[in-house]
Amino acid sequence: MTGRVAEGSTPLMQQYREIKARHPGAILFFRMGDFYEMFFDDAQLGARVLNITLTSRGDGVPLAGVPVKAAAEYLKQLVAAGHRVAICEQVEDPKLAKGIVRREVVETVTPGALLADGWIPGHRNNWIVAVTDGDPAGVAAIDLSTGEFVLETVRAAALGESLSRLAPAEIVTAAADGPAGHRLPEPPALLTHREPWEFDPDLAREELARRFGLASLDGLGLEAGDAPAVGAAGALFRYLGELQPGGLPHLSRPAVRRSEAYLWLDEMTRRNLELVEPLHAGMRRATLLETLDLTLTPMGARLLRQWLLSPLRDPAAVGRRLDAVEIMVSDNRGRARMREALDGVRDLERLAGRAAAGRATPRELGALRDSFRRLPDTLESLAGLASRDRSAALGEIEAEFDLLGDLAADLAAALEERPPAALAEGGVIRPGYDAELDGLRDLRDGGKRYIATLQQRERDRTGIPSLKVGFNKVFGYYLEITNAHAGKVPADYERRQTLASAERYVTPELKDYEAKVLGAEERIASREGELFAALRARIGGAIGRIQRTARALAHLDVWGALGEVAAQYRYVRPEVDDGFGLDLRQSRHPVIERLMPREQFIPNDVRFAEAERVLLVTGPNMAGKSTILRQIGLCAVLAQMGSFVPADAARIGALDRLFTRVGASDNLARGQSTFMVEMSETSAILHNATARSLVLLDEIGRGTSTYDGVAIAWAVTEHLHDRVGCKTMFATHYHELMQLPERLEHARNLNVAVLETGDTVVFLHRLESGGTDRSYGIHVAGLAGLPARVVGRAREILTTLEGEHRVVPGPPSPPPDPGQLMLFAAEAQHPVVEEIRALDLDAMTPLEALNRLAELQRRAEER
Ligand code: ADP
Ligand code: MG
Repeated sequence: MTGRVAEGSTPLMQQYREIKARHPGAILFFRMGDFYEMFFDDAQLGARVLNITLTSRGDGVPLAGVPVKAAAEYLKQLVAAGHRVAICEQVEDPKLAKGIVRREVVETVTPGALLADGWIPGHRNNWIVAVTDGDPAGVAAIDLSTGEFVLETVRAAALGESLSRLAPAEIVTAAADGPAGHRLPEPPALLTHREPWEFDPDLAREELARRFGLASLDGLGLEAGDAPAVGAAGALFRYLGELQPGGLPHLSRPAVRRSEAYLWLDEMTRRNLELVEPLHAGMRRATLLETLDLTLTPMGARLLRQWLLSPLRDPAAVGRRLDAVEIMVSDNRGRARMREALDGVRDLERLAGRAAAGRATPRELGALRDSFRRLPDTLESLAGLASRDRSAALGEIEAEFDLLGDLAADLAAALEERPPAALAEGGVIRPGYDAELDGLRDLRDGGKRYIATLQQRERDRTGIPSLKVGFNKVFGYYLEITNAHAGKVPADYERRQTLASAERYVTPELKDYEAKVLGAEERIASREGELFAALRARIGGAIGRIQRTARALAHLDVWGALGEVAAQYRYVRPEVDDGFGLDLRQSRHPVIERLMPREQFIPNDVRFAEAERVLLVTGPNMAGKSTILRQIGLCAVLAQMGSFVPADAARIGALDRLFTRVGASDNLARGQSTFMVEMSETSAILHNATARSLVLLDEIGRGTSTYDGVAIAWAVTEHLHDRVGCKTMFATHYHELMQLPERLEHARNLNVAVLETGDTVVFLHRLESGGTDRSYGIHVAGLAGLPARVVGRAREILTTLEGEHRVVPGPPSPPPDPGQLMLFAAEAQHPVVEEIRALDLDAMTPLEALNRLAELQRRAEER
């Protein structure tokens, strides 16, 4: 037993504590020889997360360690679990150190600051986002792995939208509990807290200008109003600079995102339409992204995702993308050639990023070279495609296409055809590339050949036919003689090692050559290292060019994929214009049709016009109401992102916002759903929709009693019709709502047809004008064999019920007067109603809302 010294009071532990104090909030990987050790709380946490043994040092300090060789895997697990890890290395040779070896943190790895290869999926960005607290809010987003950098200044109310679109791995904020008042995106990002002053735009302006070598920020397209985003960028740079003391790898100039340029899709809409995430985890091919993603490169997959989440608003900009897709669609051979050339191009952005950071392995540079080799074919196929038509978009890419021929030649001349994964394995640099390296290799090989001839000479000299020359790491080269010939060993042999049946010897001559061979090996390794580092630095230095080429390839890949989808699945080019209308002929649901056998999906026509802008869709369960509703939203997203759409013809007046809401009991997106949530989401639409928006409501009002539900659905529709004037489709099973068009001039009834033949019901999934036969349910009850007497009685009761809660007086009554609406007449006078109207639901938490509701109820009862 060791006597227990005061816990951790040794000089080593003092050094540990000093370093640890400078990296609070991070697990410290403290290098000790061949291990990274974790101490104290880090050890307990690490042992738990990594499932490794927790021990303790002699002085009682808890300890857990991972071997340096396997560290990457452990690091990945810790970061995936949402932890920060600071990597502390020995920065001097332990043999030369006086006292404790000097140690320093060389890098901190976090979920948002990853450079390692293969840790993050290639098909999506890994954003780290800094956010300022205020209105407007500033957003700065960086993907360290690709060098992308985006700045955005948004209304505080729109921050949630921005964050959920980016789905960052890490959020940097000055607010104690994250960006104020916003639901954080799922899955939850790591929150990193920084001091408020770090978000100061004035500090950041200089830093930005310096980093991009500019006199002022005007050149970046930044304006005075962008100050919040600039401030956020400053904080992000400071933080990333601390994580990577070696300096940040190359970043592209910031792309300034202006939200007016994009179709606004809030988080609920994105989820309800299943754009990139299925409602039910694990459902394969259920999303629009998966249906569209026939891209061949990671850059293309990432760009497609970005486009899908940010469709455009300007019809001309949409048109330019559509022109490019059209050429891809119309030239099947050209498209196939292009896709063949792109297939196998690796992740240029991330590989170039690793080269610039000095981290690319020989194999990764090989991957870059192989990718560069495909560029001439790509350009040739592009030239063929572009010549068919004058598409501005394709022409622009062709004009700027950088073949990177110099880099390709440099890599081809220097690198072996199949370079190893690690530099230490050797055989990285091709013969003929460097005279010094070639000379060293000759020396080594000559030495080896000489040693091989030595074996025959010694056999002849000693007369021992079984004498052989061998090599091992401990003793180097040796001559081995079996015990049977022990008597014939010459005097100049020196014994080195004794085995059971043989002895091993060396001679001065052998040692001489051994020194030459081994010396050459060592110098070969260091020369190869130098040459490789220089090569990598040259490639890394050209990262700007590589990234531009990667960007061009990403565009071609996306257009090629959209062309492929359109050709394979029979999509048409939509007309996107500045009009109000939305007209889809024989349109289909892009995702559901793919899940069905071919030709099984029933296409439908849908038409919105100024005079018919509110469409009420009724029909029994399973008729296809939800499907048609989403299909319209998906077609709009497709058209405005620049894709063809699943229809025979489509014309879409560019939308500014798209909202999709699904009533509480129909909404499977939320595990647990409350009526309050449903209502506050609906309220957000009423506040944000404009005449240029499209609102898709599926069974809103369902989460409460029938009367309440009808009343709410009615009032919401009325508001959208009278006040907002936007295109609205409302799918509902409340037949009462079919009376709405009697009062609302621009509303129409539609129904999804079903056919009753004999005793079966066939769902035709066909959208027709007019309402539904209200006694449908009773009819089905009859078909199902309920006694005729019961069915007859049910009809009687239905008639009475309908008479009772008829909302609009039917003809021949005089034109309806809003004041006569029974459902609202009574409550219109109550003061509580006024208060409810005045509530700002967006600004309330569910708990506050519930409290207010309780209070209102008490007051309503008092009266
Ligand atoms: P509702 O909302 O009216 O209850 P849904 O939209 O959920 O109905 O559709 C019910 C089922 O009918 C779904 O499984 C869907 O796959 C199928 N369906 C809907 N529309 C069509 C269509 N146009 N063609 C073929 N099948 C359809
Ligand atoms: Mg439905």
